[in-house]
Amino acid sequence: MKRLIIEPNGSFTVIEAPEAQPGLSIIPTWDTAFEPQQSKPSEQLVCYRCGTIKPDATGPNDPCPTCDAQHWVQALA
Ligand SMILES: [Zn+2]
Repeated sequence: MKRLIIEPNGSFTVIEAPEAQPGLSIIPTWDTAFEPQQSKPSEQLVCYRCGTIKPDATGPNDPCPTCDAQHWVQALA
């Protein structure tokens, strides 16, 4: 999914991404029921706060270029 828009009338519009990209899980960590159905972790790191893919040029302690957070986690493929 590329974007989810909440419309003024309360409905949702989903904009699909042309190709799946590595990103954060949308399932809370305490909810293990759907864990087997999730895609497997990838090599890619993403920002834990906003999901931005970590640029190759940044080090492990460098801040996220989008939100300045310094918490990187393994993305789901
Ligand atoms: Zn971020």
